[in-house]
Amino acid sequence: MRQQNDLANAEALALSRLSTSAQPAVGSHLLRNLLLSTTFLLCVGAAALGMVQPVQPEPMPPEQTLVQNVLPFPLDADATAIEFATPETPYVTETRIRSGDTVATVLKRLNLDDTNLLNFLTRDTKVPFASKLVPGRSVQAATDINGQLLWVRYFHTPQSDATGQPTVKLLQINATRDGFTAEDLERPSEVQIEVAVGTIERSLFATTDAASIPDGITMQMAEVLGTKIDFFRGIHRGDQFRLVYENRTFEGRPAGPGRVLAVEFVNKGKASTAVWYSADGKTGSYYDLEGESLQGAFLRNSIKFSRISSTFGMRTIAANQAWSGHHPGVDYVAPTGTPIHATADGVVQLAGWHFGYGNTIILKHHSKITTLYGHQSRFADGITVGTKVSQGQLIGYVGSTGWSTGPHLHYEFRVAEKPIDPLSATAAMPAATPLEPEQRVKFAEVVAPFRQQLQVLAKFQEIVPDISSVAVR
Ligand SMILES: [Zn+2]
Repeated sequence: MRQQNDLANAEALALSRLSTSAQPAVGSHLLRNLLLSTTFLLCVGAAALGMVQPVQPEPMPPEQTLVQNVLPFPLDADATAIEFATPETPYVTETRIRSGDTVATVLKRLNLDDTNLLNFLTRDTKVPFASKLVPGRSVQAATDINGQLLWVRYFHTPQSDATGQPTVKLLQINATRDGFTAEDLERPSEVQIEVAVGTIERSLFATTDAASIPDGITMQMAEVLGTKIDFFRGIHRGDQFRLVYENRTFEGRPAGPGRVLAVEFVNKGKASTAVWYSADGKTGSYYDLEGESLQGAFLRNSIKFSRISSTFGMRTIAANQAWSGHHPGVDYVAPTGTPIHATADGVVQLAGWHFGYGNTIILKHHSKITTLYGHQSRFADGITVGTKVSQGQLIGYVGSTGWSTGPHLHYEFRVAEKPIDPLSATAAMPAATPLEPEQRVKFAEVVAPFRQQLQVLAKFQEIVPDISSVAVR
């Protein structure tokens, strides 16, 4: 413990709690204490962040929030009543959108048996409810004490910071005497900071599910560390991660996941870290703890890592379709219609049928680099020869056109017309955009609490290695 003497009192307290209380059999009381300790540290972190973005240090969140960290509520449970109706306050039920949901199944879980409402949400083209069903997003319904519907709220964009203030964007359907009205609202949201750890047993999503981590956060983690770790094919049993992230709430009720604030992922024994840093409190990006930008000139993957692609990606391994001289690209097996994104800024050089590649897009980038996206079912709107595209922009959709045995994206990375392994270090190398010296000082201050937090979580994992399975009990 000598080394820890240098740390803040708060952390020393937390660590001593970690070590003393971990001796007997692990119980939920202990877990709560551990999480209390780590969350306490987060408050210290919030205060330190205040130096950059002056805000009042947040008070300790209520104990209930903390318990939720270790005793996960079933993510896909049926709609839960989260408060009781009184003549003044409505009765609110909430559910989250599951993959495969339709408007009808969502309404059913909210106990809303109303054909007029269903018609309004599905047939009125001015109401983008049906077209915006995103798995994991929250939908709430409020009724009065007589069971009369008051409103339905769909939190389609839980995380928005365009103005520098955290907000949620929601679609609110109001029940009126003459039928329904819809309005798009943007409202200030509250931010809760959560922590989580996991050790990969079967798959990344199985692990994040056990720790009650929202899918949106898992996908962000994969995106943020995408230049360091191949989440499609390189995740191994025994890999570990520790996460600090936001949950957004609106009027005290969950509105959805916010942003990953800090993450450490140990892949095959090698740790990669990322922290969110914003110099002006508005825009920002991810850096490692030393202040090197994690934003690569090229994205490692042109398909977003998701629950679906992670499962399909596993099949890619089985099929052994990796890059080789004989197969000069990487195949991402994914369902038809999966969005394909440009891996870097560039100009469309070709968008059309291209031999055995079927419907193909070739993008021209700087320094004689081109990228090729083959077998597409269709191209995104507005993508024609000469179109300028930016990194991450949607360019088309997975298909099985041309010489293909099933839906997949064939992706090639070429330097001076010569294909090279896109997953190799040179291709995925992050662009060197170091912070200015004066920014480094500020960065170090902002990052210090996150660094401590990740250390505490690592310690925590060391003491309670099977924390995920403990948490499920
Ligand atoms: Zn291929």
